[in-house]
Amino acid sequence: MNDTRVSLRPEIVALAAYRQGRAARPDGFKLSSNENPHEPLPAVLDAIAQSSINRYPDAGATVLRGRLAEKHGVAEDQVHVGAGSVSILAQLITAAAGPGDEVVFAWRSFEAYPGLVVVAGATAVPVPNRPDAGHDLDAMAAAVTERTRLVILCSPNNPTSTVITRQEFDRFMAGIPRTVLVLLDEAYIEFVEDEDAVQGIPLLPEHPNLVVLRTFSKAYGLAGLRVGYAVGPSYVLEAARSAAIPLSVTEPAQRAALASLDHEDELLERVRRIQRTRHRVWRGLDEQGWRLPQPHGNFVWLATGAGTDEATDRFADAGLVVRGFSGEGIRVTIGEESSVETLLRVAAEVVGSLTESAQGGR
Ligand SMILES: *Cc1c(COP(=O)(O)O)cnc(C)c1O
Repeated sequence: MNDTRVSLRPEIVALAAYRQGRAARPDGFKLSSNENPHEPLPAVLDAIAQSSINRYPDAGATVLRGRLAEKHGVAEDQVHVGAGSVSILAQLITAAAGPGDEVVFAWRSFEAYPGLVVVAGATAVPVPNRPDAGHDLDAMAAAVTERTRLVILCSPNNPTSTVITRQEFDRFMAGIPRTVLVLLDEAYIEFVEDEDAVQGIPLLPEHPNLVVLRTFSKAYGLAGLRVGYAVGPSYVLEAARSAAIPLSVTEPAQRAALASLDHEDELLERVRRIQRTRHRVWRGLDEQGWRLPQPHGNFVWLATGAGTDEATDRFADAGLVVRGFSGEGIRVTIGEESSVETLLRVAAEVVGSLTESAQGGR
């Protein structure tokens, strides 16, 4: 019977397709995808409305690239725009690594990493986080072999909300061969307040093998439009372009990103509001006895261990959709301010039911 089916790559068939978090019920909150709770700015809606969608978009996103180059003080050919930073991740993994090559990343980290490595035909080398939930950079450097083509760092790390410090980053880079591409995924960088945290773009001149990934999806609230970018050496980004599906960054996305840069102050004020809410949530959880790593992204990490599934259900019963990673922990997005009360109420119940050993140490 099965001989009537076409032959597919077995590693792709075995791969689980991306599964999206459930929608929240009408009186509830979706705190499972690290989305921005704020409605789009009127100027962004206007920009979208002005798009001529019967035409193909500007394939090179030239205007947006120019603006981003100006913003970051780099040349235009050091910026590459993609349909979400995830698509640039896919392009760079494909450009750097194929069958027999290895890609090193921290684990747990962003769920997209292992799948994209498999799709490229390369081998994933996940390196467990430290007990404090941060990247174990020494172990990651030690995992680099002559087969390694790419190392992915995520700061703040999704889902643990930890950051890599500047000092840790410098030490790590000093131990990595310059022939190995290092990708620093800064999807949540705008939410960082810690001055010791690494910021990749100013360090590009020092590290010729570094590419920094940014996105409009989180702090700028454009997740639904799919637009992100990379900053790094032009020849590396040129290779990413060669691996890209042409014309996938739509004109509404390009225009909305430009309008967002025009209104950056307003958007960053919203980010500050989310930071204040995060602080309230973090303090509240800490007082309840949660031993959680200091959150630097727009989300917190609850190390619920073996109690994760039960705790995820408890949040759901209270109307909060959160992202549980069975056996490990729960990622909760800092969303609407009106969700905080319920979040803290349920968290207080959950922490009481967890054993000491269920929560990862700090
Ligand atoms: C959300 C997220 C992204 C951004 O994805 P887009 O494709 O730009 O929406 C990238 N990296 C990490 C770690 C993320 O959590």
